[in-house]
Amino acid sequence: VGDRGDFDSETETVCPFCGVGCKVSLKVKDGKVKYVEGLNGPANENRLCVKGRFGFDYIHHPHRLTKPLIRRKDAPAKGLNVDPGDLSTHFREATWEEAMDVAAKGLVGLREDHGGRSVAGFGSAKCTNEEAYLFQKFIRQGFKHNNVDHCTRLCHASSVSALIENVGSGAVTATFNEIENADVAIVIGCNPIENHPVAATYFKQFAKRGGKMIVMDPRGVGLRRFADEMVQFRPGADVSMLNAIMHVIVEEGLYDQAYIDQFTENWEAEKQHLAQFSPEAMSEICGVSPDQLRRVARTFANAKAGLIFWGMGVSQHIHGTDNSRCLISLALMTGNVGKPGAGLHPLRGQNNVQGASDAGLIPMFLPDYQSVTDDAIREKFTDVWDSDDFSAEKGLTVTEIVDQVYAGNIKGMYIQGENPAMSDPDVEHARDAFAKLELLVVQDIFLTETANYADVILPASTLYEKNGTVSNTNRQVQRVRPAVTPPGDAREDWKITTELAERVGLNWGYTDVSQVFDEMKKTMKSLDNITWDRLKTESITYPSLTPTDPGQAIVFGDGFPRTDGRARFTPASVIPPDEAPDAEYPMIMTTGRQLEHWHTGSMTRRSLVLDAVEPEANCSLNPRTLKLMGVEPGEMIRLTTRRGSIEIMARADRAIAEDMVFVPFAYVEAAANVLTNPAIDPYGKIPEFKFSAVKVEKVEGS
Ligand code: SF4
Repeated sequence: VGDRGDFDSETETVCPFCGVGCKVSLKVKDGKVKYVEGLNGPANENRLCVKGRFGFDYIHHPHRLTKPLIRRKDAPAKGLNVDPGDLSTHFREATWEEAMDVAAKGLVGLREDHGGRSVAGFGSAKCTNEEAYLFQKFIRQGFKHNNVDHCTRLCHASSVSALIENVGSGAVTATFNEIENADVAIVIGCNPIENHPVAATYFKQFAKRGGKMIVMDPRGVGLRRFADEMVQFRPGADVSMLNAIMHVIVEEGLYDQAYIDQFTENWEAEKQHLAQFSPEAMSEICGVSPDQLRRVARTFANAKAGLIFWGMGVSQHIHGTDNSRCLISLALMTGNVGKPGAGLHPLRGQNNVQGASDAGLIPMFLPDYQSVTDDAIREKFTDVWDSDDFSAEKGLTVTEIVDQVYAGNIKGMYIQGENPAMSDPDVEHARDAFAKLELLVVQDIFLTETANYADVILPASTLYEKNGTVSNTNRQVQRVRPAVTPPGDAREDWKITTELAERVGLNWGYTDVSQVFDEMKKTMKSLDNITWDRLKTESITYPSLTPTDPGQAIVFGDGFPRTDGRARFTPASVIPPDEAPDAEYPMIMTTGRQLEHWHTGSMTRRSLVLDAVEPEANCSLNPRTLKLMGVEPGEMIRLTTRRGSIEIMARADRAIAEDMVFVPFAYVEAAANVLTNPAIDPYGKIPEFKFSAVKVEKVEGS
């Protein structure tokens, strides 16, 4: 892996892993990628992390799906019981003609017998913008409802919900590169050194040149080594801590009255609400000293320009929307939106979760966050699609769809490039639900845990095998290009969805992916001035204001895209986590990612270097906790919550609080989501992955 000898061709494209969107050059020899180099893209300036540099050989892994598959009539009962090295016990190979026929007839049959709502879809944040657009169109146009979603529901749905509510747009207001113009940066609820490693290099440079870095997290994440303040607060106590910081800003008159007057609404209500959150009163709840809360408030409010970055530590709570509301209020009250070095930046997780959301792969919005409940907007889309109207009712989200599958109301699903049988909370419930489906069509590159439950499997392509565009956390739209061809009979995802659409009665007729992009432009103002031709040579940050504008790194300097042009303060109250630790489950479990592995592990665990560096399921606890339990690092422990139990190797990490355990969710053999709580935030409908009450025990004899 990574051999730097000669090569036959090189292709410019974008890394398939995280939302940073690093531009890469793939060097290909004899039809295989030999190595990867970073290019001078807008988000990476030639840098790459270990995943981008070494995590490419999964595309040539022998487990790649190369033929369409149909479940055998005599297959054992559905479950996680298929050997990826020998699929023949459960599936038989089929031609595309036969597999498409079974999939389409099955979906149409359910529509005819039980109505369109008996079928739902999960699209993918790993596919291109065009593929995400086609997927949501497939469900809306073909089945006349909005029950289509993707993994944004599991990562930043609550952030998007708060941003749309209060600033009128779900995307970042400033690129992360703007940190070079900031005086202060708050980095909260994220671990960029592991999860957005190239973005983290900019953060480290900022700190090294004297910028004030405030890192806030229940875990002492790696970036603390570069921080002026490490605020290690109690899990789930974000609102009490942030309100206390804002209380100080009000109390000491550090807010920007001129900005508030010109650009915001509901300030008086926010101000009054904050009066009850003194640092002294909140310190007990959030575990941060009043002195530190005051210091952070003064540092942020007195800076000329401040940025706020946040991750899933903020969003994955039943009060995730409230957490984000607080961060938005903090930026607004200090005038830190719409100017150089200032802004709000939820660090997006998957490589194209921003683009897939923009493209309408969410149940309440059509492309560009246009509401499905608005008759005029739906009419615009049905005109462009040359189709009948579809439902004005907001659709079901990921966990709601799974519940309806479990209840038997949804009988068929089309899942493209997502792995909910690993990624959903309380995942055994999700697996039981998928086992009940009359028809599950899975389109993917590997036999994922979800594909174990499939009736038809359609072999798809990796990002390094396809054409299209992706949009990163910075709103930067970039072209992806095929460096190699998909193996065997595997196809690009947009071609598969297009053919399936024709077979369920939709007259799409796309023959080139650029036609899809051109259609998207008809209804998406965010793509104004961005053309397929421009994207051949440029990466463009939307919005682009003229045909030659490279795009706007900072937005909302002259007002917000809300009806009155003003952003809103929405006061947030303290809501405790859904389940409190008790005598039976006395500790707190939180989940997340590790540097070497990506999400459910289907790609990185099949990458030689990444899997060699981090081969085994592990979790981290404070060394003192381990000592009290009589557990040595490397020994096995059992984690049990109200949902289930796993056994996993324990590691020591001083940065973890003594009552916490951190569990990465990439390992099927010790799947963290067997344990997680499916309780959801009422606005963003995001599950509380970051807080479960857990019992931790030594596995004797391990
Ligand atoms: Fe890929 Fe993200 Fe690493 Fe960049 S930072 S190389 S996009 S995983």
